[in-house]
Amino acid sequence: MLARRSRTSTCEAGVSRSLLAPKRLRRASRNCTTRKTLEEFEFAFQPSIDERLIWELAELSFVKTNRNIVLLGPPGVGKTHLSVALAVKALEADYSVLFTTLSSLAEDLAAVPHPSLRRQRLRHYLTPRVLVIDELGYTRLTTDQSQSLFELVRDRYEKGPIILTSNTSFSEWGSLLDDEVLATALLDRLLHHAEVITISGKSYRMKDRVAKGDKTKAAAKS
Ligand code: ADP
Ligand code: MG
Repeated sequence: MLARRSRTSTCEAGVSRSLLAPKRLRRASRNCTTRKTLEEFEFAFQPSIDERLIWELAELSFVKTNRNIVLLGPPGVGKTHLSVALAVKALEADYSVLFTTLSSLAEDLAAVPHPSLRRQRLRHYLTPRVLVIDELGYTRLTTDQSQSLFELVRDRYEKGPIILTSNTSFSEWGSLLDDEVLATALLDRLLHHAEVITISGKSYRMKDRVAKGDKTKAAAKS
């Protein structure tokens, strides 16, 4: 079945497991407690992000022109938030979107019982108009998984945009894929028509802790 509802309660996981037809996504989004939107993103907290560019991307010309978006940066700076928020914009415009993490994608492809079925499974990731691949960098890929990821990027090239997030600089992708040549060929296609957004700021997850720390310091001084 192309579209199926997730049993998980979070938007991120829900979208990650499902290729959601627009109507279903709208329903799923309404039920989501952690649905991320651009409207709730605090750009002031992350000055390294070009806010105007993000709002421009939200107008979705990248979908029409099949441009990829690559969000790079350390943990907590909002890569997943922005990728979900752009995915939500695409879904609201009735584009089909599939959100997955690289580890789910890799596991899914590794679970294919026979190599001849791999192409068939890859089609699941080729069909949606927009594909989000979150968290490249946490999982080292096997030879087969790297090959599948390459095929995916190659087959979506100039046909369907990918929004990809990574905490790892491009120079390290060779070791993630365990194949420098393949990583170079993949990056060549991924980046040919792409917006690369490098975020170099503090983790938003630490925001409250830092604020609390400041208050404690201030209290100690007074
Ligand atoms: P990353 O994917 O870069 O590790 P996330 O997007 O998961 O970071 O962000 C971590 C948490 O902080 C999420 O709950 C996200 O919604 C929130 N967050 C991150 N940056 C911002 C921001 N600038 N404004 C509002 N919330 C943010
Ligand atoms: Mg993330």
